[in-house]
Amino acid sequence: MLLTRSLPKVGNAIKRILVRCPQTGKLTDTGRTVAEASFPTTRLTNNKMTCLHCGQVHSWTKKDVVLAR
Ligand SMILES: [Zn+2]
Repeated sequence: MLLTRSLPKVGNAIKRILVRCPQTGKLTDTGRTVAEASFPTTRLTNNKMTCLHCGQVHSWTKKDVVLAR
């Protein structure tokens, strides 16, 4: 007897990496993604992004990250 279950794997979702713009205070998509389960062990250092809100280039680190769906 076959049971086909497609239960979602907890914590395995792919999240978008957002950081908060220091100029406008708005969340900005960095264009990067990370698996939620591996985020605690993922190294994210010395990253830069061009901000959609103010047009400047911001550097960000892992502590600045907000994960979004
Ligand atoms: Zn900005």
